[in-house]
Amino acid sequence: MNMFNLSKLLNRIYTARLPELKDLEQVLSLNDPKQLNVLFSFADTVRKEFCGDGILLRGIIEFSSYCSRECFYCGLHKSNHKLKRYRMSEDELFKAVEYLASCRIKTLVLQSGQDDSLDALWFKDIISKIKSKFDMAVTLSLGEKSMDEYGVWRQAGADRYLLKIETFDKELYESVHSGMSLDNRIKCLNYLRALGYQLGSGNIIGLPGQTLKMIAQDIIFFKRGDFDMIGIGPFIPHQDTAFANRQKGEVNLCLKAIALTRIVTKNAHIPATTALGSMDKDYRFDGLKCGANVLMPNFTPQPYRKLYEIYPGKRCVDEPVGRCSFCMDNMAKEIGRFIDYSRGDSLKERKVSANV
Ligand code: SAM
Repeated sequence: MNMFNLSKLLNRIYTARLPELKDLEQVLSLNDPKQLNVLFSFADTVRKEFCGDGILLRGIIEFSSYCSRECFYCGLHKSNHKLKRYRMSEDELFKAVEYLASCRIKTLVLQSGQDDSLDALWFKDIISKIKSKFDMAVTLSLGEKSMDEYGVWRQAGADRYLLKIETFDKELYESVHSGMSLDNRIKCLNYLRALGYQLGSGNIIGLPGQTLKMIAQDIIFFKRGDFDMIGIGPFIPHQDTAFANRQKGEVNLCLKAIALTRIVTKNAHIPATTALGSMDKDYRFDGLKCGANVLMPNFTPQPYRKLYEIYPGKRCVDEPVGRCSFCMDNMAKEIGRFIDYSRGDSLKERKVSANV
């Protein structure tokens, strides 16, 4: 494809109410560095137009590594008995949140495995206390729960929820998530939307068995779902999982998916994910230059941070707590951008909740 036709194709995707699957697939199959430059700079222009030059920060605390699920790619999976499990106490959590607040971070992400023993009311009290003491948005990422639990936490003040679809292909989804169903994942997203959470989803690039068409379908799913946030990261094999010997996700494919998601969804918040920063070099820079507008510094205190091993070689795992937040300013400066210390709420103008 010559550059003129590529520009035409990108414009068609940009202006479509819903892009054609084959157009997305065609872009995902590009490999020529000059063509990739055109794609990435197109996405960067869309990011600048809809999100500006500020990079938003989401401080993450991984407060529990208990998990009842058997995702074939994830180091936290239930039968990984090598992993020492933990759930932080209220005191430990509060200290970590206090430190995060002192770094001017205005969005806290509380993440855990699928911790079925988590006491929903204990957790509700924690959310209420955080919301009354600190001026920050609270994002939850706790997996699939009942509508009642989501509702109680929303009432306590939780603002946002992240639940990645991982892949929208039903067969692939159910083959890599033993005992789980895509329908239930979607049902949970619909509960969360109905409860008024700002809603995040996302996928993993390079899951064994995934095709370009499946990634194109994921991007259409992101568009249809009108998600407020979309996290896209490469698959990184973990030695103690069923996928130990599978190939890593390709960085370029991940960057193409980020760029296309930006062009298609326009104003969703898209992080340069920690997984992207945990490959052979820190590709979060590249992510920020092809559509991403968010970074996620890690505030999980030691010794827990080392124990939350969803994949090996995770960025900054040996750093003292909060250290990464200091790197963020430098990262932003290096690419001529700046850190935006605001809450960074959804940029969507949504009056009526839409089903995904
Ligand atoms: N339990 C929650 C859930 O189900 O959404 C959140 C915790 S889960 C560990 C967080 C994310 O880690 C998942 O959504 C998945 O995309 C990502 N993840 C897990 N293992 C991974 C791997 N090996 N490579 C890349 N991403 C991975």
